[in-house]
Amino acid sequence: MATIGFIGLGNMGRPMAANLAKAGHTVTGYDTARVDVCGMVMAQSAAEAAADKDAVITMLPNGDIVRSVYREIVPAGSTSACYIDCSTVDVESARAAHKMAEEAGLLSLDAPVSGGVAGAAAATLTFMVGGSAEAFTAASPFFQNMGKKAVHCGAAGAGQAAKICNNMLLGISMIGVCEAFTLADKLGLDRQKLFDVASASSGSCWSLNTYCPVPRVGPKTPADDDYKPGFAAELMLKDLLLSQQAAKISGAATPLGTLATSLYDDFVGASGKGRDFSAILLYLTALERRD
Ligand code: NAD
Repeated sequence: MATIGFIGLGNMGRPMAANLAKAGHTVTGYDTARVDVCGMVMAQSAAEAAADKDAVITMLPNGDIVRSVYREIVPAGSTSACYIDCSTVDVESARAAHKMAEEAGLLSLDAPVSGGVAGAAAATLTFMVGGSAEAFTAASPFFQNMGKKAVHCGAAGAGQAAKICNNMLLGISMIGVCEAFTLADKLGLDRQKLFDVASASSGSCWSLNTYCPVPRVGPKTPADDDYKPGFAAELMLKDLLLSQQAAKISGAATPLGTLATSLYDDFVGASGKGRDFSAILLYLTALERRD
């Protein structure tokens, strides 16, 4: 069993840390909000949580916070420790965190997750991982304690790159599905009939078949629960903004990603905050054509 420092005990971090403690590891937690987590010792600072641990896991809101926490915790790390950042952040910040850790002789991984709060609680997260093979091997038992799958995507930053590309695709495909239902409504086509056809045809995709944005159509989804998240619209906007930052820096043309970002920005600003990202259906059906 290992000693683990866990920094950032919010909606995701708390259940992830609890699952590590449940698996028998000795977990020391730290959060600026001074939360208490059952089965865990709480430290007074991030550096104290990280000191002399086999592994240090961070689950924080954004890249600036990850960089500043790493500046604090890297000098506290013991040389054999593996530092694992599970936050969703920009690729540049992920690489900066790797650089700090590796220069101090620590193993380092970026390992953002998909699966949301429910996946964190049920230990069914998927980890997308960037960093060395040695670090991935060292961290694999912890991924097993917190999730169902871990994919080693490549070198430093590759985990964040995979997360951002996947979620840009998800945002675009959700808008596509919602637009198809919006057009069907106007054409007098029953929503259930569109689902029956498209979910078994070339229009099928995860946003339609598994996460249908229309209430009472397809499997049970947040649409059947008044669009309670699920995956909140503002988190989708965060990931789309990260995709556009990465596209700009790398020179990739992502015209649909850009448009999806602007639509989610409008939706979150209007009525989407705190609702599931599939509720963009309501926003799109209320839009009026301008030509
Ligand atoms: P959250 O806001 O609930 O938790 C973040 C925690 O970090 C808070 O408790 C906050 O007090 C703490 N924190 C902030 N600054 C700190 C610091 N300097 N030192 C220590 N603690 C600090 O957010 P969350 O929903 O748990 O998400 C965490 C990360 O996971 C984000 O990067 C998010 O994008 C990503 N993510 C979230 C979901 C989801 O469904 N919530 C899904 C996938 C990925």
